[in-house]
Amino acid sequence: MHLLRHLLLAVLWLCPHLAAAQTVEFRLERMRPGLEASEKSVLSGALDGQFDAVAQATLNTLDRDTWFRIIPSSDWRSDSPPVLVVQQTRFQRFTVFPSGGGRPTTLSALQADFPGGQTRGVLIFPLGDGFRAGQPLYLRARFEGSPTLLVPRLSITSYDDARATAIMHVRLSASCFAALMALALCAMCVWLIVRERLFILYAFLLGCQGLYVTLITYDAYALPGLGALVRYGVRPTFLFAVLACIAAVSFARIMTNADQIAPRIAWLFRAQQSLFVLLLLVMLATPYRAIATLSAIGNVLIMASTMTIVAAGVAGWRHGSRASAFFLLAWLVMQGFTFARALCETAGLQSSNLIVYGFPLSMVGSGILLALGLADRMREMRAALRDAQARAHTDALTGLLNRRCILERLDAARTQFRDNGEPVSVLFVDLDHFKAINDHHGHLAGDACLREASRRLLATLRHSDAVGRYGGEEFLVVLQGADRTAAAAIAEQLRAALASAPVQAEGAQIDLTCSIGVASTGSDALSGEDLIARADAALYAAKRDGRNRVALAPDSSLVAPDPAQNEGAHIDRLSHPPLCRTPR
Ligand code: GH3
Ligand code: MG
Ligand code: MG
Repeated sequence: MHLLRHLLLAVLWLCPHLAAAQTVEFRLERMRPGLEASEKSVLSGALDGQFDAVAQATLNTLDRDTWFRIIPSSDWRSDSPPVLVVQQTRFQRFTVFPSGGGRPTTLSALQADFPGGQTRGVLIFPLGDGFRAGQPLYLRARFEGSPTLLVPRLSITSYDDARATAIMHVRLSASCFAALMALALCAMCVWLIVRERLFILYAFLLGCQGLYVTLITYDAYALPGLGALVRYGVRPTFLFAVLACIAAVSFARIMTNADQIAPRIAWLFRAQQSLFVLLLLVMLATPYRAIATLSAIGNVLIMASTMTIVAAGVAGWRHGSRASAFFLLAWLVMQGFTFARALCETAGLQSSNLIVYGFPLSMVGSGILLALGLADRMREMRAALRDAQARAHTDALTGLLNRRCILERLDAARTQFRDNGEPVSVLFVDLDHFKAINDHHGHLAGDACLREASRRLLATLRHSDAVGRYGGEEFLVVLQGADRTAAAAIAEQLRAALASAPVQAEGAQIDLTCSIGVASTGSDALSGEDLIARADAALYAAKRDGRNRVALAPDSSLVAPDPAQNEGAHIDRLSHPPLCRTPR
């Protein structure tokens, strides 16, 4: 409940019109350019005739010291003392002279000796005990290195309201920074183990965004270590903004698979990457005065890359990539704010709290969505790997195990036999007169028969039995735990299943039969090759005896286990009744 209230307050505060702050309307006047005025002459009111009414937007184009006159439209009535609040000061030094000759205060977000207990994001200038309507106060804005694009926001409010604003500013900017950095750190840890390029790009992107957020909300300068950035003025802000853009464009290119699915978009990404790098180099080598122009160019480039990123996201999504859909969603939220902010800056419009703080908040939101997108991409990759593994194990036409895999199964079964004495039987199944089927009905009908034969084999076997395609129209069945007698029965079932009904293929009814050779481990440990060779020999006998039948190899214990010695005995037995034919 407590949390909900705070969230609600934060949202209210983000919408300037709903926040119930005590503010006083005022008129802003600016001294005509070109006048050299001393502090004394301005404060005495002698130069009041030299001021013209202006909009706050003029504050963003200051490139020299300028005097402003602020005339409240009503008396100050609150018990809490009045203050002038300046937000988004960027890099100007303001001095406020309260009406009635109160003590002036000078503050700049960039000053090294910023007073403790205040945030650089909300400069608070005391205005004495109060004022009357029409009684002017003066503001001197000093150019500090670079004209700013952001329009500073002035307001006259109570000290209590200003403090509340400052606290909310610190809360929001610090939590956005912490969240972005935590996400970046997690991604970096994942990258250290997984070594997938997207994770390090993601970490880099979020790290840059985190630092950028602290810079645009001015809190970076209060952080230990980052305080030294004050010396470099505006440059660190641009540095991290442009680095984040480079990372974002690279990330988008990989995440949406742009190189594969949309080469033209990928080309645009590469061009934008180069332009951002160029911009960065020029920016670092340029005097401050040119930076406003460069950042305007940067904003245009950001808007262009936003559109490219969205186009790539849509293209990836339409290609069925769920990761791209996540990515698109993440980007749309953040880019909406980036766009609005860049638009405000370029057009010299004052951005509301919703844009100022919604922007870093949207970065956090999109960081979380991107993490989901990354996870989804990992899931897609894992599924693709599983698919590839399955394909490496199965025969493409029949879906049965392939030759390598069925031989592995036979090996595993033999290990069981060696360890536990569990018998193993091998059935060598060969379709009869298959060449003739191909010749009469065509290869496609032959394929259909192979598929149907596989289906019937699978349907007849137990789950624990393994069946694979050994060659063209030859199948190998490995029966674990089945001795010679059990194997003969199963072989007979298979033979009967295959011959049970004609196969319908290519408009024809094709009679299908098979011959099966059976070999089993007796009391001896026969090798896999031995078993197959014996089953093959039995199969040969079944073919010779007229096909569509099962033939059993002799009990292995009656034959020497060494194949070299075995061969003679084998052939010998093959020529006569070594193979017990199944009764038909
Ligand atoms: P037998 O009864 O002696 O086994 O005679 P058969 O015709 O079945 O044996 P043979 O070895 O002479 O012919 C096998 C045929 O199987 C030849 C080949 O074209 C066909 N074949 C092998 N692989 C495939 C396949 O993937 N699809 C199709 N349709 N036919 C195949
Ligand atoms: Mg064959
Ligand atoms: Mg055949």
